[in-house]
Amino acid sequence: MTKTTNIDDIGKREELEESLELRQRLAELGTSFTTQRQAAAEAEEFHKYKALFDNITDLAYIFDTKGNILYVNKAFEKLTGHSVDEFTGKPFAPLYGASNLEKANSFYTATLNGACPQFELTFCDTGLICEYKSQPIIDKKGVVVGAMGIARDITEQRQTEQALRDSEDRYRSLFLESRDVVFISSPAGRFEEVNPAGLELFGYDTKEEFIAIDIDKDLYDAPETRAAFMREMDRYGFVKDFEVYLKHSSGERIIVSITANTVHDHNGRVIAYRGILRDMTGYKQLEQQLIQAQKMEAVGKLTGGIAHDFNNILTTVMGYAGLMQMKIEKDDPLMSNLEHILSATERAKKLTQGLLAFSRKQIMELKPVNLNSLVTEFEDLLSKVIPEDIEFKVQLSEGSLVALAESVQIEQVLMNLITNAKDAMPGGGVLSVCIEDIDVDKGFIKRKGFGTVGGYACLSVSDTGEGMDKAIIDKIFEPFFTTKDVGKGTGLGLAIVYGIVKQHNGYIDVKSAPGRGTTFKVYLPTVDMVVEESEDSHEEVVLKRGSETVLIAEDNDELRALTRESLEGCGYTVIEAEDGLQAIERFKEYKDSISLLIFDVIMPRLNGKESFDEIKKIAPGVKVIFTSGYTEDILDKKLVREEGVNFISKPVSPRELLIRIRETLDGKLAMNG
Ligand code: ADP
Ligand code: MG
Repeated sequence: MTKTTNIDDIGKREELEESLELRQRLAELGTSFTTQRQAAAEAEEFHKYKALFDNITDLAYIFDTKGNILYVNKAFEKLTGHSVDEFTGKPFAPLYGASNLEKANSFYTATLNGACPQFELTFCDTGLICEYKSQPIIDKKGVVVGAMGIARDITEQRQTEQALRDSEDRYRSLFLESRDVVFISSPAGRFEEVNPAGLELFGYDTKEEFIAIDIDKDLYDAPETRAAFMREMDRYGFVKDFEVYLKHSSGERIIVSITANTVHDHNGRVIAYRGILRDMTGYKQLEQQLIQAQKMEAVGKLTGGIAHDFNNILTTVMGYAGLMQMKIEKDDPLMSNLEHILSATERAKKLTQGLLAFSRKQIMELKPVNLNSLVTEFEDLLSKVIPEDIEFKVQLSEGSLVALAESVQIEQVLMNLITNAKDAMPGGGVLSVCIEDIDVDKGFIKRKGFGTVGGYACLSVSDTGEGMDKAIIDKIFEPFFTTKDVGKGTGLGLAIVYGIVKQHNGYIDVKSAPGRGTTFKVYLPTVDMVVEESEDSHEEVVLKRGSETVLIAEDNDELRALTRESLEGCGYTVIEAEDGLQAIERFKEYKDSISLLIFDVIMPRLNGKESFDEIKKIAPGVKVIFTSGYTEDILDKKLVREEGVNFISKPVSPRELLIRIRETLDGKLAMNG
């Protein structure tokens, strides 16, 4: 059909040849003819490809030069969430949304300018990410008439990559932020990888510095330890909680626990060690302290128990001997025997008191004590103990330091430490006592392995004597541990010091080395209190008789009988009770005649304090003296720590008791229950 028309046109050619205008038209028709033919061919080809393109999963597209979509294949629908018809002939811009549009435009422009870019874009409605390969469409004249390309869905790939990156980030921060050291080292003995905790623990500024160190030489304290570590590794392929001493860059020793495993290549050859190091230095120190404390606690319980029972026996011996002494004539031939008994009981009393002090079963009367004044007042007495060839130096703290303490006991601590210091310097030397204000903070606790945060007075006693080795230091606080000759040392001095310090909620620390002298440091918690000056007079008290009625509550028959005898011997009338309940009954019976109660603190059925509280309800102003040799856990510790409680500790001599009774009855002591 078309061809016939064309032949007709050619037939007319000669007629029209003369006219330029016509010639021109002919030319146009000729062109139109070729264009149409070409278009038809192209259309045919296009449909062939269209069918092909519609069946692929990647997106195929053709855009014109104005940003309109001329063609997209079926994949378009799945990727963008829109139908092909909806977008054919329309601009592509809405597909990308604001966040991607700029990028889309720039690549589109680049393509129109002749480039073949490869890029990634996200469709705004589906969130799917595609990777594009774009190229310009160039016609025969070399003019760009559009852009076309292929886009592949890479969403899943990108998500996997992101997940991988996230997970890597997580493990990286685990590595970077771990407080334990995480490392990789080589069989050649170098570190390949270490986290910041490692640099901090070993004291290196940069990873490069750390990687440069020779593990054998710079890290291990002893070659045997590294050899033992390697043996374990070779044998089992791993170590768990393997404890070793390693060196800090400063040379200081640190204890670490290693958990690590070997890494092999395909041939089973060890290519690396990977693992974790934990700093155990502080922990080990604490553990050591705990073991020591537990040991002391056990020994303390044992000695405390013995001392308590022995105390009661001693009180009886001492009491009856004392009574006898009061009764017999001064020139009686038995008097000297009696004096021997009494002086022996006096020594035994000191011993049991020492043991009780160590076992912390002693009852204390805590009062604010100014430590500077305590040392100053004690200095005179101390300098008498110290031989001429020892230089004695005292350095007080600048401000006054007040601790809640029993001054006699702190004096005892000083005396025991100074006696030891003196004994350690048989050839003379320097002995210094120093009081300092110390602020115990977390750093202190970490360094020393003991303490609780707060203000402390540090009382130190140093000597330039023979010093001690570690084996001795480990034992010095145990009761009866002594290195001194028989008759010279009892081994109780430091045990007593330890007990007293613990009972004051304090700490004791010792530094010593053979030939290098010794320093003991006693830390006592300080309080913000003012010390009242007391005007004790030490004059000899004359024993006065009395005529009042006294109620004695004491479960130990012998002690009760002894007290009765001593009191009756001095003119008092005695009513006895065997326990707290009976004491209340007896009081009710005789309340009009009873002037004073002497109550043992620990008794069956009802303890002294409880019994006294009941009696106080009947007679609020009643006077009381509590006696005890021992604090039990059931005992209300406040009772005896409260200031003003009239308390006397066993063993007590009849004389002491009689003096205290008179003082109480005459109102010399401002006491209450
Ligand atoms: P004792 O003095 O009766 O031996 P201690 O409990 O006071 O008992 O002391 C126990 C041991 O501790 C002493 O025997 C001595 O070995 C050692 N020791 C104590 N203090 C010092 C010191 N300042 N210098 C050297 N060794 C000391
Ligand atoms: Mg001693």
